[in-house]
Amino acid sequence: MQNLRMSTTGGVVIVGGGLAAARTAEQLRRSEYAGPLTIVSDEDHLPYDRPPLSKEVLRAETDDVTLKPAEFYEENDITVLLGNGARSVDTAAKSLTLADGTEMPYDELIIATGLVPKRIPSFPDLKGIHVLRNFDESLALRAEAGSATRAVVVGAGFIGCEVAASLRGMGVDVVLVEPQPSPLASVLGGQIGELVARLHRAEGVDVRCGVGVSEVSGSERVERVVLGDGTQLEADLVVVGIGSHPATEWLDGSGLEIDNGIVCDDRGRSSAPHVWAIGDVASWRHALGHQVRVEHWSNVADQARGMVAAILGKDLPATVTVPYFWSDQYDVKIQCLGEPEADDVVHVVEDDGRKFLAYYERDGIVAGVVGGGMPGKVMKARSKIAAGAPIADVLG
Ligand SMILES: Cc1cc2nc3c(=O)[nH]c(=O)nc-3n(C[C@H](O)[C@H](O)[C@H](O)COP(=O)(O)OP(=O)(O)OC[C@H]3O[C@@H](n4cnc5c(N)ncnc54)[C@H](O)[C@@H]3O)c2cc1C
Repeated sequence: MQNLRMSTTGGVVIVGGGLAAARTAEQLRRSEYAGPLTIVSDEDHLPYDRPPLSKEVLRAETDDVTLKPAEFYEENDITVLLGNGARSVDTAAKSLTLADGTEMPYDELIIATGLVPKRIPSFPDLKGIHVLRNFDESLALRAEAGSATRAVVVGAGFIGCEVAASLRGMGVDVVLVEPQPSPLASVLGGQIGELVARLHRAEGVDVRCGVGVSEVSGSERVERVVLGDGTQLEADLVVVGIGSHPATEWLDGSGLEIDNGIVCDDRGRSSAPHVWAIGDVASWRHALGHQVRVEHWSNVADQARGMVAAILGKDLPATVTVPYFWSDQYDVKIQCLGEPEADDVVHVVEDDGRKFLAYYERDGIVAGVVGGGMPGKVMKARSKIAAGAPIADVLG
């Protein structure tokens, strides 16, 4: 993709080419910000949506993930610089340096650089080993999945589970390896983790929990995976889904406070004047005073509204938003509303062997709800969660 127009200088500069960058630009224009507005991305694609990468794109059901067409940026006078990421920032001089050395002054800088997938450094450099965070990685995985027979997915978090489901749907034999006692255990706890493991096993995935990968080998391509318990698995595809870390390396030396993401207040203000952060890379102050970094799609639009209002000096009153995310695995949409945590008391109130509904209790109140294939019932709990209702209200 060509750059849409030459860079303007000053005004608002957004670094990052994903959902948070697009939503912020959109929100600025919707809020009648009329000054220069530039998006700087290290990718070659216009900002696009990531959830389909492990689902529809991987299964070759669509390639159309662009959030807004080129005309949107033209019509809204938004400059989009592609394939030339930010290399460093001088917050005192209010100037950004891009990968090609270009200096770009800003009045307000918004950082929306997302995450970088973790890799396993001990893995050899063999064909057939993948991570999945961006569009090109999804296409690369898809290209090999078409002819693969046996895949090992390392890590049963949301992305690992979705990739396992998509590969299974493409006819690939899948082994899902997770050091925790069950899939998603660290996020949703063991009880729901077991129900998710059951779902994958019913689809023919070989789910192996409580064990890690100790070795990957092959000549040019990956051929074999050895687990920590000595099990040897034949594999022509390995997908590493062991989580990600905030994309902040380029900010080393900038003086910005970084602690599991860019530390911000409850409107996205960082520790440096005129520098803001949003999306997966940003750790915002929660209403209860602690810092939270959320890696979910639906969080971004709320953040963009609050942050843009603050940038334009029209601070919005705080609103109670109930966090939400979803994950599609086979025909089951797993949905989480509220802030369920692994060590909450979990009440599974419905379970038909495939679909399920569970409430999460903390200190006697309903902290969250998790459903598999139960959309209506999940959403019905929203007002109870927002109100901090007693758990008895939903169990009764
Ligand atoms: C495969 C996958 C599936 C997902 N599925 C779901 C789902 O089902 N449900 C859900 O709720 N959430 C899901 N998510 C999470 C959701 O997509 C993210 O929360 C969302 O993309 C966050 O947007 P962001 O803009 O903060 O980060 P990103 O979308 O990651 O965008 C960051 C952008 O910044 C660019 N960048 C990085 N460094 C620089 C730099 N120095 N200079 C310029 N640009 C830079 C990156 O290349 C990227 O384009 C999924 C994520 C992935 C990867």
